[in-house]
Amino acid sequence: MPSYEYAGNLHVHTPYSDGAAYHTAIAEAARLVGLDFVVFTDHNLWLDGIDGYYGNDKQGYVLLLTGEEVHDRTRLPQCNHLLVYGAQQELAPYAYDLAALVRAAHDANALSFIAHPDDRAVAWQREPAIPWLDRYVSGFTGLEVWNYMSRFKDHLPSRSVALRHVFRPDDVIVGPSPRTLALWDELLSMGQRVVGIGGADAHGTTYTFGPVSHTIFPYDFLFSCVNTHILTKFPLRGDLQRDRALLYDALREGRAFIGYDVPGPTRGFRFSAQGQNTSAIMGEGIRLGHGITLQVLAPARARIKIICHGEVVAEDRNVENLTHVVSHEGAYRVEVWQSYHGIERAWILSNPIYVEPNPSRLRP
Ligand SMILES: [Zn+2]
Ligand SMILES: [Zn+2]
Repeated sequence: MPSYEYAGNLHVHTPYSDGAAYHTAIAEAARLVGLDFVVFTDHNLWLDGIDGYYGNDKQGYVLLLTGEEVHDRTRLPQCNHLLVYGAQQELAPYAYDLAALVRAAHDANALSFIAHPDDRAVAWQREPAIPWLDRYVSGFTGLEVWNYMSRFKDHLPSRSVALRHVFRPDDVIVGPSPRTLALWDELLSMGQRVVGIGGADAHGTTYTFGPVSHTIFPYDFLFSCVNTHILTKFPLRGDLQRDRALLYDALREGRAFIGYDVPGPTRGFRFSAQGQNTSAIMGEGIRLGHGITLQVLAPARARIKIICHGEVVAEDRNVENLTHVVSHEGAYRVEVWQSYHGIERAWILSNPIYVEPNPSRLRP
């Protein structure tokens, strides 16, 4: 079955919570860098009436969707931010308890993702950590594996270092938190289906460092960094209801990958599994059988790794393709690492293909 690739950002704030730019300006920034969609995720606020296509025939269109980032504002220290997509209703009343919130999202046929699970504090800036604390909660769609701004905070041990890095963030952005990748692998190894997404957490905020005041991470810059690429089963056609459902249905399954476009464009990456009379792409399941072969196609030469439950099962460097014949069931995901300015960085992170046990082999 063919798939159609759409790249967009799933974590964006406006002045309705703590962002700096309104929807139209953000849509313009997204169109400028060639994104196909943007999902607004203001804190504890779902806005009706925003969803739709923005743009014109000449310059192209961006699909604007409205989700929400929900958390319990009364809980200290702050924790458990949850990104919700497709609820089409306000879910903040359920913020008091993460389990209740995940359940409410599920009941609303929405997708839910634990945001920045391993977020850390920036002590000198008095910025608190906002990690995922209630780890007994399950039933969510997935994890925000790579949150650009949260991960950037990991590289700010002091004001002087921060002042250097905010003007040259590419120096320190090398990939998602290894702890979050390990968490993802751990959940997958327990048999859970966990969709991984990446996002900007864009606020367009102006920071003041002594005499220097600067919008250090404008929306258009962040939209050219970490995005999520969604592979739909049919092309988007300009019909809001239908297109929104196509995108969210694909994302719910995990037919998606995370792309960091600074080392090079990530569009065109593919990860699939082929067997006799059967095939699957990322997010899908396939039964273990003779000669199930995983196939990776990268947009350019790079180091490709196939990982199952935290173990690298196949790896090659300076290649565009990698194949691996599967002999065990499990969740197989791909990381592609690319050199940029002399440093190897996470470039593409796929969602897993779930190789499932073959019932005919289980018979005595
Ligand atoms: Zn958050
Ligand atoms: Zn956020």
